Amino acid sequence: MENVIILGTGCAGLTAAIYAARANLNPLVLEGSQPGGQLTTTSEVENFPGWPEGIDGFTLMDKLRKQAEKFGARTEYARIASVHFGEDKKILTAEDGKTFEAKSVIIATGASPRLLGIPGEKEMFGGKGVTTCATCDGAFYRDMEVIVVGGGDSACEEALFLTHFCSKIHLLHRREELRASSIMADRTVAHEKIEVHWNTVPEEVLADEQGLMRAARVKNVKTGEVSELESKGFFIAIGHIPNTEPFAKELETDHNGYFIPQSGSQVRTRVPGVFVAGDCADHVFRQAITAAGMGCQSAIEAERWLAEHA
Ligand code: NAP
Repeated sequence: MENVIILGTGCAGLTAAIYAARANLNPLVLEGSQPGGQLTTTSEVENFPGWPEGIDGFTLMDKLRKQAEKFGARTEYARIASVHFGEDKKILTAEDGKTFEAKSVIIATGASPRLLGIPGEKEMFGGKGVTTCATCDGAFYRDMEVIVVGGGDSACEEALFLTHFCSKIHLLHRREELRASSIMADRTVAHEKIEVHWNTVPEEVLADEQGLMRAARVKNVKTGEVSELESKGFFIAIGHIPNTEPFAKELETDHNGYFIPQSGSQVRTRVPGVFVAGDCADHVFRQAITAAGMGCQSAIEAERWLAEHA
């Protein structure tokens, strides 16, 4: 039986791994389908303390992983499908049927991009025009017109990143005011390659005869006017859904699916020895540095709990 199993290799999971490994807990880190978490899809991270020139998300996560491995954290691929949390033994079952047993568990499974649920979105997802990651796919749309959907920091970041490749970026936002921080919003609105379409929502992604995106049908929610916007790329940046579903029967979640920690703690749950950290348990801050902070807290809490109970 493991001392501690950490689920997730984003900022929260890898920070927990660094702390747990340095505490000689020999943690096993289970990595899902997005190694390094959401930061690996971010181009430039300008607000992580210690990097005055900024650092790209992939490099930052690679450094965190090396730091965790240096102290002995072990990593294994496994997507956990179900769990049974007893006080003394936590059993985790992966999608392929493999089971893991641990005295304590830290869940840092993050969040996944939210989709729009409009016709054409699924059909053209991944390689045919629709994507949730400008860093991953932006270069495929060199000198083309593309659409970005959303009005938060992510949408602005995606739109600004795409200005390096694309001839024009149409930013569709359903309201009249961006939700993004003012520095990001100002940069976005001022950029000559970005046109913001206020009060506008996409209704359908339209394909050409080869099944590739050719345009989007969009609607102005104020005037009711419907039009077609020609574009080869469709970048969705409308927020995230926490990855908490496999644990929802055992742990408390709110109406949006985020874990609810026990009062008086950010990371303790109602099951002794099970802790949560990062975006799966934080709908307020959702920053790399706050996720790292929660990862640190969860590892220290796990260490104390093991010292008292195991
Ligand atoms: P967010 O702040 O929740 O913004 C989501 C945006 O998508 C909102 O503008 C929302 O519109 C829109 N939206 C949601 N559902 C929609 C739908 N069905 N159809 C059309 N539009 C829809 O999410 P985020 O931008 O991913 O940011 C998440 C957190 O990460 C924030 O705390 C943000 O500050 C942070 N972040 C920071 C940075 C940075 O500092 N560099 C970069 C990225 C993210 P409404 O505005 O009308 O609700």
